[in-house]
Amino acid sequence: MEFDTLCIHGNDNKYDTTGAVSVPIFQSATFVHPGVGQSTGYDYSRVQNPTREHLENTIAKLENGSDAMAFSTGMAAVTALMELFCAGDHIIASDDLYGGSHRLFHRISIKNGLSFDLVDTSDISNIVSRIKPETKAVFVETPTNPMMQVTDLAAVSALCKKHSLLLIVDNTFLTPYFQKPLELGADIVVHSGTKYLGGHNDTLAGFLVVSRSELSERLRFIYKTTGACLSPFDSWLMIRGIKTLAVRMERQQQNALEIARWLCSHKRIRAVHYVGLPSHPHYEVSRRQTTGFGAMISFETDCRETALGILGHVRVIQYAESLGGVESLITYPMLQTHADIPKEEREAKGINERLLRLSVGLESSADLIDDLKQALEVNQT
Ligand SMILES: *Cc1c(COP(=O)(O)O)cnc(C)c1O
Repeated sequence: MEFDTLCIHGNDNKYDTTGAVSVPIFQSATFVHPGVGQSTGYDYSRVQNPTREHLENTIAKLENGSDAMAFSTGMAAVTALMELFCAGDHIIASDDLYGGSHRLFHRISIKNGLSFDLVDTSDISNIVSRIKPETKAVFVETPTNPMMQVTDLAAVSALCKKHSLLLIVDNTFLTPYFQKPLELGADIVVHSGTKYLGGHNDTLAGFLVVSRSELSERLRFIYKTTGACLSPFDSWLMIRGIKTLAVRMERQQQNALEIARWLCSHKRIRAVHYVGLPSHPHYEVSRRQTTGFGAMISFETDCRETALGILGHVRVIQYAESLGGVESLITYPMLQTHADIPKEEREAKGINERLLRLSVGLESSADLIDDLKQALEVNQT
């Protein structure tokens, strides 16, 4: 089956006997045992729930993984993932990391005895030079948030295999529609389902997808023990969102490309970071390992006032955190997602007071461009 069809018919609606086209929401915390020592396959919803199971099987198929676990948020997924590691273990991660993951690693995981080296993983030599006997994993975001740096996943995967390291990839920005890290050799994929998978800015969710059963066993144990599972209703909202994933990704990407090109031509825009522009330094690697570039753009304005002017005057685009939904959202990474990252580190990455991040939605690209245009003009006086 092609990806578009898998999004809609990836799994049988095996739980239903009425012919319902939509998977039922099994809003039940617990399940009756048919007899002593017997089970219907469901005992307690923290361990498994039919609606959530349907969602998990769909995600596993889309990512071509052996199993997927659905969490209440993306951060709950990353937190559970960190339980794979023990005090003393060392992890190498992308330096341009999602702010929440950065905060988890440096404020909580460190306290539990893990240590981290954050490097620019788009240059593999940076990873090589940090590997030590205690290193257990490489955690990569590609493209990164918000600087859109791309890591060569097949190359990093080969390196990880050589050193017996787990390769973990946060695939939130591209989704399996554009990028399948497990097929490129990754061991675990992380998602914030809150973003493109859900796609409507109405539900929080997270996923871990694994390449093999040994990892599934270890993570399923952590999952049922730590308990941050996705509710039946939110699982259903995710199932519904995923049905339109393919068309949304296509159209959002098309909008993004048009907006990125327009931004490049504007005199008050200094730099446009969009992986789909041939001028992007990682355009070629992206073309090799993905089937698309996504719909996230970061751009640098000429000065702080211009950036603030855009945030204050956009009308169609909304100034709000998050990304990936049908509504276009603009954020100020310095004050929002990356507020917890030390200033010098932030500035060194280019996350300064002139940088804005745009998640391009499903509105008409002409309306979005007009909106940016008027917001840039208001501030000209
Ligand atoms: C939003 C996000 C997360 C965290 O997910 P939540 O659902 O907000 O907890 C992790 N990684 C990336 C790349 C994200 O954009």
